[in-house]
Amino acid sequence: MLRPVLQYPDPRLFKISEPVAEIDDSVRELAQDMLDTLTTVGGVGIAAPQIGVLRRVVIVDVSLMEPHEEGKEIPQDFRVVVNPVITVLDPAKHVENEGCLSVPGFRAKVARPKRVAMDGTDLDGNPVRFEGEGYFGACLQHETDHLDGKTFVDRISYLKRSMYEKKMKKK
Ligand SMILES: [Zn+2]
Repeated sequence: MLRPVLQYPDPRLFKISEPVAEIDDSVRELAQDMLDTLTTVGGVGIAAPQIGVLRRVVIVDVSLMEPHEEGKEIPQDFRVVVNPVITVLDPAKHVENEGCLSVPGFRAKVARPKRVAMDGTDLDGNPVRFEGEGYFGACLQHETDHLDGKTFVDRISYLKRSMYEKKMKKK
């Protein structure tokens, strides 16, 4: 089911999400709603709090792991990760121009550790691990940030953030 995507600065986007203790129908339904919403609005990832559910579930597009060559389409490959945990594998700074479904009409350069791993489980409770750097690494960190009440807007300069907030107020 398509669910509305919360927009910054909705207070639910700043809350810490609860770990999933047991994968039951409510979690499977949540994952399906997240997938329906993501594929309808379009994007490369989504976290449960973005549809107003404060539980630790994300969806990431693992096709981004593959090197994307000019003119070669790689179909999106969405994977659900329950209770994701990020481990930094290479702390060197990497900058990506990030955007977010919850922060429409705004992109900004965000510096994060270059290479990370995301560990969690799939919807059957089997362990999953995705490793990535560059754009994919940034996506893994971006989605997990949402579970800790952070959007990429919290990782940019005060000046850029106030520019965005002013723009939002005008609307
Ligand atoms: Zn986001």
